[in-house]
Amino acid sequence: MSFLEYAAAPESRSILNLRENYGLFIDGKFVDGRGDAFTTISPADEAPIASIAYADEEDVDRAVAAARRAYDKVWSKMSGRDRGKYLFRIARLVQERARELAVAESLDNGKPIKESRDVDVPLVASWFFYYAGWADKLDYAGLGANPRAHGVAGQIIPWNFPLLMLAWKIAPALAAGNTVVLKPAETTPLSALIFAEILQQADLPAGVVNIVTGAGATGAALVRHPDVDKVAFTGSTGVGRDIAKAVAGTGKKVTLELGGKAANIVFDDAPIDQAVEGVVNGIFFNQGHVCCAGSRLLVQESIHDEVIDRLKTRLSTLRMGDPLDKNTDIGAINSAAQLARIRELSDIGEVEGAERWSADCVIPEKGFWFAPTIFTGVEASHRIAREEVFGPVLSVLTFRTPDEAIAKANNTPYGLSAGIWTDKGSRILAVADRLRAGVVWANTFNRFDPASPFGGYKESGYGREGGRHGLTAYLKGAAA
Ligand code: ADP
Repeated sequence: MSFLEYAAAPESRSILNLRENYGLFIDGKFVDGRGDAFTTISPADEAPIASIAYADEEDVDRAVAAARRAYDKVWSKMSGRDRGKYLFRIARLVQERARELAVAESLDNGKPIKESRDVDVPLVASWFFYYAGWADKLDYAGLGANPRAHGVAGQIIPWNFPLLMLAWKIAPALAAGNTVVLKPAETTPLSALIFAEILQQADLPAGVVNIVTGAGATGAALVRHPDVDKVAFTGSTGVGRDIAKAVAGTGKKVTLELGGKAANIVFDDAPIDQAVEGVVNGIFFNQGHVCCAGSRLLVQESIHDEVIDRLKTRLSTLRMGDPLDKNTDIGAINSAAQLARIRELSDIGEVEGAERWSADCVIPEKGFWFAPTIFTGVEASHRIAREEVFGPVLSVLTFRTPDEAIAKANNTPYGLSAGIWTDKGSRILAVADRLRAGVVWANTFNRFDPASPFGGYKESGYGREGGRHGLTAYLKGAAA
């Protein structure tokens, strides 16, 4: 037994109170869906968790009608102060049920419990607390003379941070006075349905938030519904493009948060151990299923070998396995389809001539797994340097001068995030200024705070979520 082996420390599932079947959450109640129900599974062992209703176009119509009624009769007439009270109540209930939500999230998504418990769920609560505080201050925040909600918001979220993305969408929408129809991703509907129970517990007026489960067709029906005033989407660039086309010319407002291919730039004066830790967090957090992941490491040539050696040593200590085990660092890949995509792009990386190294992990027999992998000798033209892998795969490129680092960092169709590691504050400011990325982290990575706006340039989408900026997307005529 090596000194790094730990006894199993699984979090108990007994806190979960799961139903066998989950309906759609429309007008404050769980109701049957008209489509064929589907089963959500645990990606760690492929075991079924629960049967989930599938919303067809008519169901989406019912949900939008409920949201419209709630907007006209209740929510648009309520004071900001009272809306804020509901948001505070939701935030506190999320905290009360934090352990249950973390277990559900890790079970359904495959992410390590220490991430869902220490990152996702606390951030969810903080998002609701933050926007609860805004609800009665909209008139005093430079958001226009009489900021008014759009009406009904249709929101579509991905599977990588199911509950956190729900919070990013629902909290500002409600604070600004909109009502909501939200569609979770088909592989991770569970935490949104537990959240629907929290809304019942909070006595949120019926119809203010509706949750319709289903796949792409459900999302497409929501985006195209004529009575939706505002569309908010987080997901792949391909679907984002479809959505932009579908809403063009309709007068609907839209925000898109799409893919990324972030550069994490390490200069030769950076504190190397700290930088290596940041690079690991940047790409291996949440199995690399992160749109702002630092998937391209740009390392100054003079320290390349040292950084790669230390990176490999560090990766060899990461523990991969049961997402519910409190010692697990790397959980399961969310779905068979995503695993196939990661494998395909990694194979292409090898064919194109980059050198592949993977940590020596024991891969569990069942479920979807991919060992943390580094590609060195990557060229800017390689597909693993250009396309989003959305998995635990790091592409390493080198540079000699700051100008070269900036040119390489910006040489991507995306522009969501970037990282800079250096000892010099002046260099941080000079480089950050020239990076075409919505978020630039300095000597840290993947840090989130509800007060800080987040969003992309170029093919990473448009609009900002978080902070005061995040409210503007949900208010008429408000400028950031
Ligand atoms: P990912 O690569 O993260 O799976 P997708 O963009 O495919 O990203 O999925 C993100 C969300 O968008 C999911 O909830 C999915 O069901 C939904 N979706 C997929 N296709 C469409 C579509 N054509 N219109 C609207 N929503 C869609």
